[in-house]
Amino acid sequence: MRVAVVREVREHERRVALVPELVSRLTGAGLDVVVEENAGHWAYHPDEDYAAAGASLAQDDALDGADVVLAVQPLEPERVAKLKPGAIVISFLPVAAELDTIRAAREAGVTMFAMELVPRISRAQSMDALTSQALVAGYRAVLVAAERLPRFFPLSMTAAGTVPPAKVLVLGAGVAGLQAIATAKRLGARVEAYDVRAAAAEEIRSLGARFIELDLPPLEGAGGYAREMTEERAQLQRDLLAPHVSGADVLITTAAVPGREAPLLVQQPAVQAMQPGSVVIDLAAESGGNVEGSVPGEEQTVGQALLWGARNVPSQLPVHASRLYAANLVNLLLLMTSDGEVSVNMDDEIIAGVCVTHDGTVRHEPTRELLG
Ligand code: NAD
Repeated sequence: MRVAVVREVREHERRVALVPELVSRLTGAGLDVVVEENAGHWAYHPDEDYAAAGASLAQDDALDGADVVLAVQPLEPERVAKLKPGAIVISFLPVAAELDTIRAAREAGVTMFAMELVPRISRAQSMDALTSQALVAGYRAVLVAAERLPRFFPLSMTAAGTVPPAKVLVLGAGVAGLQAIATAKRLGARVEAYDVRAAAAEEIRSLGARFIELDLPPLEGAGGYAREMTEERAQLQRDLLAPHVSGADVLITTAAVPGREAPLLVQQPAVQAMQPGSVVIDLAAESGGNVEGSVPGEEQTVGQALLWGARNVPSQLPVHASRLYAANLVNLLLLMTSDGEVSVNMDDEIIAGVCVTHDGTVRHEPTRELLG
């Protein structure tokens, strides 16, 4: 069966869905791999490397006759419409924003998977692209901050005097937040962090950071995820966090609630009260923002602090973001592959979980509701 790897066309996307290093895992399972020209260009993987690894380079449209399509961003509806019935597309697919693509998949009888929907169960960990990309984003957030901060991160004792460590505050300690904490600690900063999930306290402490105790009960929903909270409680949380924000040299926010807008954690007065030169990184800027006024892809001045709004941060480290994402895709695809044949087994909780369309129907209930 033929597996096609597309060249990403969306603005700011530098990742690629398969890296040369992993081609042999697919060919070794009896699959043919076809790569679109220049697909790996922005991730520093030239066409020759794919060819040397055993892939073929597409002469015309790589998607012609493809049984499986691997991509980072959702395919455009026009490309989906040209796929053969029963073809499988695996990519990120933020369903609410991609209804046209989903309609096209339904009409064309294409099976479409959304990597955001990989269940958070241990058997699916190697396929969990939200986790792999959040790791990249959390790491990068700290480097962006360190590069912009007009101060040292580590304590420095020199003959010219002692420089205190930077104070870093991380709000939201899921995958990205914990990686940000670990990275900031490695750079020598003094780190404190907060998350609404009770389990996060131990995880934060185990990285050597201080957990901020707020006088609020823990808030958890299904699967250990944070649930949305009442506005009154959210305001109390913001008020209690404000002094921590204004006392930090660097603030990194990563809070999210699955399927909802990101919670607003920090209002402008708290940022305005930060020391001159402080840096705020809002990793949630694209999903509504944790910091009031943050804009994806923009750096702006608030008071005397710099506010950096994240936009496709994993794509800013395209080599390793692609490597990890590709491994997630390969693991998912191999779960469906046997004797060189790919088949969609809806009895498998992972396959059923990630499937949005199959056989001319929309299987993902929330998407069905959105389509009306
Ligand atoms: P996420 O991106 O949905 O959210 C990031 C963090 O924001 C979460 O820790 C959440 O609790 C926090 N948050 C939400 N609202 C907040 C608020 N108002 N104030 C402060 N923090 C707030 O989450 P994620 O990073 O994808 O992971 C969420 C959970 O899933 C974690 O418990 C993580 O350990 C777990 N997880 C499990 C697996 C697995 O078992 N395979 C894989 C990945 C993550």
